Amino acid sequence: MKMTTLTQLHEDIAARVKTISDHNLDWLCRLGCDGCCRRLADIPRLTTEEWDWLKIGLAALPPDQLEDIKLGIATLTQQTSRPLTCPMLDQAKGACRVYEHRPVACRTYGFYVQRELGLYCKDIEARVAEGAYPEVVWGNHDTIDRRLSSLGETRDLTEWFAIWKENKDLD
Ligand code: SF4
Ligand code: SF4
Repeated sequence: MKMTTLTQLHEDIAARVKTISDHNLDWLCRLGCDGCCRRLADIPRLTTEEWDWLKIGLAALPPDQLEDIKLGIATLTQQTSRPLTCPMLDQAKGACRVYEHRPVACRTYGFYVQRELGLYCKDIEARVAEGAYPEVVWGNHDTIDRRLSSLGETRDLTEWFAIWKENKDLD
């Protein structure tokens, strides 16, 4: 089967994440650590291919969970304060409800560095400042951004939802 560009990107990120995690058994990222999902700097932006993949995950959710996410998206569109909590986070479990379908930024966060844009997890940064993880070879997020630029147009998550609602009755 021919691999899509997004699938290849997912695999390359997963390989980097595995290398870092395997060499740092006390790495902070784990199920239940959801700080990055609770302090989004702004509404997430997704390429067309990321949205198409995420939409499959959303459509497979139980109706009550999709309803909850829809309400969260509606809140996001009106919220002017920052940071934001991602509406796809299961806040009780600290887990992503669309984990297999999550956007690329969620996969790189904590493992890829682009310091000037603040994509670096504050919790991991604090550990590094204490001297932890001296051997880590961070991923370069500029490379990820270049690859994302070939995956279709980029829109806010809220815009993608609005288009989906127009084309397919979500109610
Ligand atoms: S990136 Fe930071 S907040 Fe997110 S899971 Fe990893 S350690 Fe936790
Ligand atoms: S999509 Fe999932 S992993 Fe990404 S910010 Fe939202 S809850 Fe977190």
